[in-house]
Amino acid sequence: MSACEDREEKDKNVFKALIPKNHPRYESLLLREKIIEGLNEGYVAQAGLIAHGRGECFDYLIGEKTIDPALKAIDAAAAALILAKHPVISVNGNVAALVPKEIVELAKKVNAKLEVNLFYRTEERVRKIADILRRCGADEVLGVDDATASIPELFSERRKVSPKGIYIADVVLVPLEDGDRTEALRKMGKTVIAIDLNPLSRTSRSANITIVDNVVRAIPKLTERVEELKKLDREVLRDILRNYDNDRVLAEVITYIMNRLKDLSKELTK
Ligand code: ATP
Ligand code: MG
Repeated sequence: MSACEDREEKDKNVFKALIPKNHPRYESLLLREKIIEGLNEGYVAQAGLIAHGRGECFDYLIGEKTIDPALKAIDAAAAALILAKHPVISVNGNVAALVPKEIVELAKKVNAKLEVNLFYRTEERVRKIADILRRCGADEVLGVDDATASIPELFSERRKVSPKGIYIADVVLVPLEDGDRTEALRKMGKTVIAIDLNPLSRTSRSANITIVDNVVRAIPKLTERVEELKKLDREVLRDILRNYDNDRVLAEVITYIMNRLKDLSKELTK
């Protein structure tokens, strides 16, 4: 049994023993346990817990499901990844805790490189995340000993990138990103795909394509769409990208939340 499968066993046994299966917030509590475990194992940052909580709040607002505007963004993201020459997927602690296997699978499907990139970078955390990805089947993980290039105008530890990875990438997928780096990557001319439950964040606003969905739902859906869109002509994929308007999609997400809240408030007063 590989270490990645070990992890799955652990999910089943440890987490499921901790949380009664019939708990109404079972799925959500399971994700919390994974993040907490990542913190205890030293690869999720303390601030990662706060970021997760902010995400949970927005997930509540969209009804904890993949909504239509997210599906549009997923299609555009799949097209961009398939058309890319040097696609790179940036991985942080929360992503490693929540979707390690799924992110490796997506990378393989689109021939993307995986690079560890952390806001609160310590060499220990980087190594632990790279180990998890390798145990989940990644052949190569960048950003460990080779984070020797710098993203201009960025002063956080996130500026350190691999000259074989993010530095030369044309398309970068950044699940759970900070706004500063998204803007800096855009200034370098890269296409940035963000996955962020907060449609109001700077990350969401400055990415080329923003998938407003939980990474645990978005990554498997993206992989599924890559499989399907790969069969299409490249010109059709270019058309999907040309017709995609991120501001419009974000506006649709906000309208969706507004209407949902209106309906919920009506239900309470009828
Ligand atoms: P800005 O993008 O405006 O600079 P920020 O990056 O400082 O904001 P953080 O809280 O650090 O904000 O970023 C975490 C972001 O990730 C939040 O917007 C949160 O909604 C989102 N997030 C957290 N967990 C998940 C998840 N599981 N799936 C998708 N998005 C998530
Ligand atoms: Mg952000």
